[in-house]
Parts: sequence; C-alpha cells; structure tokens
Amino acid sequence: MRIAISGAGIAGATLAYWLLRAGHEPLMIERAPALRTGGYLMDFWGVGYAVAERMGVLPAVRQAGYQVGEVRFLADDGRKVGGFAVDALRDLIGGRMTSVARGDLAAAIYRSIDGRVETIFGEEICAIHEHGDGVQIVLESGEKRDVDIVVGADGLHSRVRKLIFGSEDRFEKDLGYRFAVFEAAGYETRDENVYVIHAAASRQIARFALRDGRTLFLLVFRRELLDGAEPIGPAETRALLKTIFGDAGWESRRILAAMESADDLYYDRVSQIRMPCWHCGRVALIGDAGMAVSFLAGEGAGLAMTEAYVLAGEISRASGDYAKAFAAYDARLRPFIEGKQQTAANFASTFVPQTEFGIWLRNQATKLMALPGAANLMLGKSLSDDFALRDEA
Ligand SMILES: Cc1cc2nc3c(=O)[nH]c(=O)nc-3n(C[C@H](O)[C@H](O)[C@H](O)COP(=O)(O)OP(=O)(O)OC[C@H]3O[C@@H](n4cnc5c(N)ncnc54)[C@H](O)[C@@H]3O)c2cc1C
Repeated sequence: MRIAISGAGIAGATLAYWLLRAGHEPLMIERAPALRTGGYLMDFWGVGYAVAERMGVLPAVRQAGYQVGEVRFLADDGRKVGGFAVDALRDLIGGRMTSVARGDLAAAIYRSIDGRVETIFGEEICAIHEHGDGVQIVLESGEKRDVDIVVGADGLHSRVRKLIFGSEDRFEKDLGYRFAVFEAAGYETRDENVYVIHAAASRQIARFALRDGRTLFLLVFRRELLDGAEPIGPAETRALLKTIFGDAGWESRRILAAMESADDLYYDRVSQIRMPCWHCGRVALIGDAGMAVSFLAGEGAGLAMTEAYVLAGEISRASGDYAKAFAAYDARLRPFIEGKQQTAANFASTFVPQTEFGIWLRNQATKLMALPGAANLMLGKSLSDDFALRDEA
C-alpha cells in the first residue's frame, strides 16, 4: 500500500519504519524544513522502549540520552527539601529507561530509514480528497499525490485531525496547566545528571544540565494564574512568564534573564486529545495527534511508538483491507491508552501544589521514596504497562 504520513516525528518515523519493513510504500510529509535534534527532555521507558529495541535503535537512543541520577527539590535559598534517587524507579522497570530529548529520539528513529523512505520536508497536507479507490492529498505547494491511506502523525495540534475530524476544541482536554521550555548556553549553576526543581504556589521551575554547556529549563504554572487571554507570540509569552515567575524565588530571576536570549522558547497548554474514534474512512491518527496523554503521563513518546507499531502490524495483517486494520488498531489500543490518559488526568490535581503547605506535603512524599518498597507502592502500578506487544511485522 502507498501510505502518506503527515509528520516525521516519533510516531511518524516509527510507522514508516515498520511499514517499509512489511513491504509497503510510506511517504512522509514533514512541516519542519529539516530534521531537528534537541528539544525538551523526555523519560523513555515502558512498552515503547521495547518497540525501540525491536527496531534496533535503542543503542543510538541511549547514547543520545542521559541517565538522570536524582530528582531534587530545592527551597528558595537552594536548600534541598525533597526528592529521590531515580534508581528507585529504574529498578522497578529493570533499568529499561533513559531520558532523551524529543528531537534526538525522533532523529534516531528517522536515521534508521533515511534514504529508504521518501520524505518531503518543509511541506504540509492542506487537503485530503477521498475517492472510491484511494485518496488524493494536496500539499501547500499545490503538489498532488495519490495514495491508498493517510495517517496523521502530526502531533498535538494535528492538521490532519482538523481537516478530517473537526476543530481541536472538540477533542482537547485541558489539564489546567501552561508550560514553557527553552535552552540556554552558559548558565552558571550546573548539577550534572540531577533534575532540579523549585516550586512556589501554583508554579514550578525545573532545570537540567545538558551536554556542551547548555541547560534546559521547564516552567509550569496553573491556568488560574493566566488572568486573561493566552499570550500570542514570543514577546507576549516572555512578558507573561516574567510576571508569573518574577517573584517565584530561588533562581527565578536568573532563569528569566536566560530566557531573554533563548531562540527556542516553546509555550503551550498541558492537554490531552481524547477522541471517540481514531479513524475515519481512509484516514487514521497515531501519537499525540489522536491520543495525546500529556507530559503528566511521562510516556507519550513511548506510547506514540507503540501506536505506530500496532497500526503497521494491523495494516499488514489485514492484507489491504484498511477499514478492518483501522478497526482492529482502535480496539486493541483503546483500553490501554484511555487508562494512561485517566492516570495522567488524576495526577494533574497534585502536579504543582497551590499552597506552601501542599508543596511541603509533596516534598515529604518524595522523601518517602527512599524507604524500601515505597517506590513500588507509590508508582509501581503506573510504571507497569498492561499491553502485550505481538510480533507485528
Ligand atoms: C515538556 C514536555 C515534556 C514531555 N515529557 C515526556 C516524557 O517525559 N516522556 C514521554 O514519553 N513523553 C513526554 N512528552 C510527550 C511527548 O513529547 C509526545 O507524546 C511525543 O512527542 C508524541 O510524538 P508524536 O510523534 O505523536 O508527535 P510530535 O513529537 O509532536 O511530532 C509531530 C511531528 O509532526 C510535525 N508536524 C506538525 N504539524 C505538521 C503538519 N501540519 N504537517 C506535517 N508535519 C507536521 C512536527 O514538526 C513533528 O515532527 C513531553 C511533552 C512535553 C511538551
């Protein structure tokens, strides 16, 4: 089959890999002008880790990644007030975990198919016309391509979803937070392999020291602090973050100063995509485009790879019957994904505490992780993936 994939990210490139292996002809259309590395850091583990292993990309992913040793919570004056050794978690999943930048994971996957799959960079699908025996896609440039099916793997704000299923607000579940991420070079304070966090009421700042003298920052705040409309463009975003985090204590002023010169400031809502059906006619969705779990799940990337793997397997198994393949894909994954979404949504209420007392309570809870058996009791269930991978291809 000829399969157009919108988005050459984590889900899209994984799908292309498995389709190619099964003898299909994938075509990727990627909005970015070129493959990008770097980006925010993600924990990578679980069922997606096993998919990466089956693809042979795990060594490259681990090499690009970081083995975070500790999550450390700091008070205003820099005193350690909570946290845990990450080994407590890693041990629960047999060491099968790394932390890797989003772009580096996507690039490692893409490199495994580079030169073997046609990829059109700097382009977007702007129309999808389904007819009796196929689909015609129209690109922004006006170029037209005929394919058998289309898969939207174009992320949280998917254009394919918008074209076929309707506007984002019909499917988005806002979990009540806004976040900003950016990188800076030369930030003086570095704590190698420690994920450092400072919380103030309804706000949280994290930093992580990257290679080459760079530091990654993640700022999260509760939606209530918005006090008006969402910022439009980098200037408004910077102004908003300065208002919200200016009095957050600790290193907040230095971090806001570092933000001034960052050229990769990314701001968004923390939200999920919940859809009653992940396919319509000859079009299906994978990854964040159809079922984003949000970063509160800490597993969206691995799940995106799993969804791609399962869809590729069902397409091959159905021998050309795309409707059967899409239905089987939806049925197999739905209970698992909806369970992940619910767990992440439940976590949202306590993710960033609203009061100083709430922060103190959270800090105490993180210290308990050091007790024997506590990590398993607190997180064991959410770290176990109740989904069995078949040999899909
Ligand atoms: C701050 C943050 C922290 C996170 N932490 C974790 C974590 O710890 N662990 C984890 O597993 N997950 C984490 N996630 C979630 C994870 O990033 C996503 O679930 C994952 O990237 C989804 O992969 P995807 O391929 O579906 O989408 P994306 O990674 O968003 O890729 C989409 C691709 O489509 C392209 N694209 C977009 N629009 C178009 C278009 N119109 N046409 C063509 N191409 C297009 C994009 O350029 C991109 O290449 C985090 C997310 C954020 C924001």
